[in-house]
Amino acid sequence: MSILNNDFLALTLAHQDGIAPFEVSFPSGLGFVEDTGILRLEPKQSSATSLVLSVGVHGNETGPIELVNKLVTAILDGTIPLNIRLLILVGNPVAANLAKRFCDVNLNRLFRGAWQEYAGFEAKRAKRLEQAVCDFYSLTENKTDQVKLHYDLHTAIRGSVHEKFVVYPYVENAIYNKDQLAFLAASGIDAVLLSHQPTTTFSYYSYAVHGAHAFTVELGKVYPFGENDLSRFADLEASLTLLLEKGVLAQSSLSSLHVFRVLDSLIKDDDSYELSIAGDVKNFTQFEAGYRMAHSDKSDYYIKQTGDAIVFPNTNLPIGQRAGLMVRPVGLGDLQLS
Ligand code: ZN
Repeated sequence: MSILNNDFLALTLAHQDGIAPFEVSFPSGLGFVEDTGILRLEPKQSSATSLVLSVGVHGNETGPIELVNKLVTAILDGTIPLNIRLLILVGNPVAANLAKRFCDVNLNRLFRGAWQEYAGFEAKRAKRLEQAVCDFYSLTENKTDQVKLHYDLHTAIRGSVHEKFVVYPYVENAIYNKDQLAFLAASGIDAVLLSHQPTTTFSYYSYAVHGAHAFTVELGKVYPFGENDLSRFADLEASLTLLLEKGVLAQSSLSSLHVFRVLDSLIKDDDSYELSIAGDVKNFTQFEAGYRMAHSDKSDYYIKQTGDAIVFPNTNLPIGQRAGLMVRPVGLGDLQLS
């Protein structure tokens, strides 16, 4: 086997159900196709930095898949000399081939072992992806000083007041990493959403289980394969290229970042549950105090303070699941950084 035209995405989509492991050599190192959509690239020169780039955890979020595939091609053909360890993961190739977000269940809710409660393709895939990350972080000579990174790249269903934003995993001591935030700012990220509780997302898994600096990165709106304008990701492409080539985290002032903390989860508690917003309302749209945001036969939710905003609204889901998050702006000065 080989990677025809150095096009790892094409190989992955052509073998969505599995692929026998094989090796590929490239000018700056050695690559291992471990399974479908799982490619580990080891530089010739030993490096303490281990970067996981995952894309397509939601199959129809094609922009980041194309961006990362372009970087992989450049590494394999020698245009980008690789100087850090790199694991590329195409999360859900079956859904990608169907141009769907997922087949049976949302893959990005199945990590930290949550896959054990489900059946179907996504449950098996979550287990396989966890194993790939676990193997990657353990297959290094630099165990003690290893810098573990994981950027899980997505695009959103709806528009956003802040086009590119990250979800910062819940950290118990509420101390946030300044270099990572400065890297995200340099990568064109506008906003940071601080999680309020542990979750079963892929990035939270890498943070909680492996101690990685891990983020869910939302890069704007969903488009089909071939219709993405990759120039919209130019800042991220430049900072990732610098990281791959030099092992350096690009740094920009944090002053461009809008930071929000999660106030409340809106939970769909009844079939009558409704949100009082237009269908196309953007993420981070702010509301006035007293506005009735949610209503059902069992409950009401009123905006607590003017400026509180909604993120990820969605009522097309089973009772008991999250219909949105209410968030509130936080001043950068109020954050504890290290
Ligand atoms: Zn997504």
